[in-house]
This record gives sequence, structure tokens and C-alpha cells, in this order.
Amino acid sequence: MTAKRNSGWLKVVGLGPGSEALITPEASAALADATDVVGYLPYVERVTPRPGLVRHGSDNREEIRRAEAALEMTAQGRRVVVVSSGDPGVFAMAAALFEALEALEAGEPEWRALDIQVLPGISAMLAASARLGAPLGHDFCCINLSDNLKPWALIERRLRLAAEADFAMAFYNPRSKARPEGFELALEVLREACGPERLIMFARAVSTPEEALSVTTLGQAQPEMADMRTLVMVGSSQTRLISRSVEGGKEGGESESTPWVYTPRSALGAESGAES
Ligand code: SAH
Repeated sequence: MTAKRNSGWLKVVGLGPGSEALITPEASAALADATDVVGYLPYVERVTPRPGLVRHGSDNREEIRRAEAALEMTAQGRRVVVVSSGDPGVFAMAAALFEALEALEAGEPEWRALDIQVLPGISAMLAASARLGAPLGHDFCCINLSDNLKPWALIERRLRLAAEADFAMAFYNPRSKARPEGFELALEVLREACGPERLIMFARAVSTPEEALSVTTLGQAQPEMADMRTLVMVGSSQTRLISRSVEGGKEGGESESTPWVYTPRSALGAESGAES
């Protein structure tokens, strides 16, 4: 039996897309038990203050240093929660934490023996797709459109190959402030690869009071329809709409409801997808 010298633990949790109701009970329990919460300031501010809980909010680009600080506190015996929005494994803190853990020169070898857990959360693409119906109901991929950590050429290559493979696609970080023209370029690539009739969906601030959904085609889409709080999805060639307005219902009345969007589970009748 090895006696545990250190009662500290570290949990990397996802706070979901915004609504309290979409935080898992497991993540809430971790927060209730923590001594410290670490993360990007707006996410840390989502955690209700209480006596005995120290909140450490930091800047967006501080991920590795933040992860090191969390490991350090855990090694000191504290109970640390690292928060991300959505799911911590999707373009978020879990990978940053393991990067810091692997870079031993930056930290301590004992960090590897720490009690670390990653707790899943509801990622923006799952919350957004649930609101719209089931646009990711068949094979899909998700791509981070930010070119902070990868070259634009790689993003463009992945867009083209995803379109060729006829995936439905979910895009995170569609418009980075540093490079607002990126999303415009992405739309051009997608229009060329998928054609102007292909469905595109914009889901902004899902599950918050500012939530806004819209469905249009690549031909009609404008870059300004997305910002950093928007999750963008592009359908596969099989993705379909079901209108929710009842024709001839109310006098000439067309309801404003966003249509349902879904991708059928079966692609047995589909072509190989590529236009070749
Ligand atoms: N780990 C997070 C993603 C972090 S990247 C997750 O799993 O959801 C941040 C991006 O996520 C944003 O630019 C936006 O594209 C998306 N996003 C996060 N919350 C969102 C929400 N409530 N509605 C729509 N998109 C959201």
C-alpha cells in the first residue's frame, strides 16, 4: 500500500454552452468541493463565489501558464477545478493541461502522479445541433477555424477534404478578432466545394438569453452572420429542412420559426459524395 501524501486533486470540467441546466451534476459536485477554480476569466465568473473558494481568472492566451499554475496548486494539496466552456476536451483546457504535464522541464516530475480527472461537458456543437434538430445525425467532423495555433493553409485543406468526404461540418471560433477575413475565405472555399445551395446554420449564444439561430444557404451566407459566440454548421449533401410553418394555416401567415434541419442516418442511397 502506498500512503497518499497528497490529498489534492485536479478536475478539468466543462461548464456547457451557457445555461446552468446544461452543467452536469458531476461538474457541479466538483465545483462544490473545490478550493480553487482556474480558467479564462469569463468562464471563471460563471462559477458562483462562495467562502473557501478562490477564483483565478486569466487571459485567453494564458493556457499553458494557467495549466501549470493548476498543477502547482494541486501538488500543494489543493482541490483545483480547471474550467472550460462546453466540453473541456473540445478546443479547450484539457489538451493544454496535458501539454503542460508532458513538458517536464517546465514542471515537476511528481506532477505525473497527481490525481487528475477530465469531466465531460456539453459541447457547443451538440447544444446547437439539438436546437436545430439533428444536422449532425450522420457522419460529421468539427474544425476550429481559428488560425491562432495552426496555419490557414491547413484549415483550408481540411475544409476541402471534409467537403469532398461529404461530412456535415461544425465550425468553432468562426471569426477570430485577429483575422476577421478568415471566415470570408472559409465561406468561399465551402461555396466552391459544396455549391451555393448547401445548407449553412448559425447558432449564436446557444442556451443563453441571447440565443439566435438561423438557417440559410452557402449562396446567401454573409461573413457577418458569425461572431466569436457563434457555432456554424454546414450540412452534408443529404442534410434536409422541414419547415415548421403550416401553409394555409393562419391567413397567409408564415411562422417565423427556424425550420428543423436534419441529416438522415442512412446514406445508402447517396452517391460516393465526391463529384468526380
Ligand atoms: N470547449 C468549447 C469550445 C471552446 S472554443 C465547447 O466544447 O463548446 C469557443 C467557441 O465555441 C466559440 O467561438 C463558439 O464557436 C463556440 N461556442 C461556445 N459556446 C457557444 C454557445 N453557447 N453558442 C454557440 N457557440 C458557442
